[in-house]
Amino acid sequence: HASRTDGVDKNVWVEFTQLAADYKAVNLGQGFPDFSPPKFIQEAFCKAVSGGPIMHQYTRAFGHPPLVRSLAKFFSRIVGHEIDPLEDILVTVGAYQALFCAFQALVNEGDEVIIVEPFFDCYQPMVKMAGGKAVYVPLRPKAASGAVLSSGDWVLSAEELASKFTPRTKAVVINTPNNPIGKVYKTEELQMIADLCIKHDALCISDEVYEWLTYDGAKHVKIASLPGMWERTITVGSAGKTFSATGWKVVHRLCNVFILFTACSFDDLFWSQVGWAISSGHIVKHMKTIHQNTVYHCATAAQEAVAQGFEREYEVFGSPESYFQQLPAMLHLKRNKLASCLESVGLQPIMPQGGYFMIADISSVKVDYNDQSSVDEPNDFRFVKWLTKEKGLATIPVSAFYSPEHSKEFDKYIRFCFVKEDSTLDAAEDILRKWS
Ligand code: PMP
Ligand code: GLN
Repeated sequence: HASRTDGVDKNVWVEFTQLAADYKAVNLGQGFPDFSPPKFIQEAFCKAVSGGPIMHQYTRAFGHPPLVRSLAKFFSRIVGHEIDPLEDILVTVGAYQALFCAFQALVNEGDEVIIVEPFFDCYQPMVKMAGGKAVYVPLRPKAASGAVLSSGDWVLSAEELASKFTPRTKAVVINTPNNPIGKVYKTEELQMIADLCIKHDALCISDEVYEWLTYDGAKHVKIASLPGMWERTITVGSAGKTFSATGWKVVHRLCNVFILFTACSFDDLFWSQVGWAISSGHIVKHMKTIHQNTVYHCATAAQEAVAQGFEREYEVFGSPESYFQQLPAMLHLKRNKLASCLESVGLQPIMPQGGYFMIADISSVKVDYNDQSSVDEPNDFRFVKWLTKEKGLATIPVSAFYSPEHSKEFDKYIRFCFVKEDSTLDAAEDILRKWS
């Protein structure tokens, strides 16, 4: 086998999603909504699949023309830059493939990529597979303010970040709103990162898949919109997060589409997911090279549906009808529901300002583990396995979002996902109350 697969074979989603399934646990682990996408996107999808033969064939490799036009129109207004639909956008199979194309296209053997911790786990293996070296810098809970209760209290030290740059630094990777803690970077924080990127002539890969999900007045800001950053930022987005359809990735049970498409049931259908990278054409050009030689294109009908979704959102943007207002409004309530449940059972949550995850401190919980097989594992891994197997509640260990060099400092947290039906959150609450 090729050596690039060495050391990147373990995957937290593969492991813990299987464990949750094996124990039929109430699942607040892997991040996906257990409710359907909004009606308009389901309808757009049904219309697309019944839209004639072209919807079932290849479309333009770098993005279905109606979709890149809709994305350019929608995001030009937000970034404050006229985005060229054909030059500046690459449509990908989810944010995963956008990230993969970015690392493959931009990182050379021996280049360094600075990753802010905690980070979505795939950045590290992707940097490694591109021949690069990941360099880590953690967000740290502010020491002075006593109890840390909000993800906003986790901050990046400008000095510490500056100390990580070397002549080999190629890029900095940030994720806002952040998975797993929910931090939403403020403009000043982004400006600090931007200044360092400009000073050291580095790129910024900004993963913004949760961009619509912010709470309590926190405002998502795109680092690409700061002066001098458009030319050096790759902004990554995902329709799966945007329209609550993370399963639109692989075509399963295709036949059902044809049998059911007058009354499409989304519980039965899992379709190709759509993501994108937006950047300056001189960067996207190289990402297109990777894309055309790997997956070539993404499912046409799903792209058509996402294009319709963005057209609709463009029209209603800023109004209460907008899904980009309705989804965070709904999740805000779910966030508060989960936080009060965790607090009441003595698991101190860090209140997220964005995204759909919440981490909680488990250090006050004393557990008698009888599972000796996990004895050498980090504390949070052991705890999550115990909670899944013995109590039937699945969560995710937070040290999985850290490099080996920092994971020990953060293995007292576990992550809960709250993009779930209230009935699922209630079932989790029942488990926590009975045991605590
Ligand atoms: N980035 C982050 C921060 C994520 O949480 C995820 C997973 N949902 C992804 C990227 C991958 O997104 P997608 O499912 O669109 O590939
Ligand atoms: N992004 C999702 C999460 O953080 C999971 C991604 C995956 O399952 N591969 O839960």
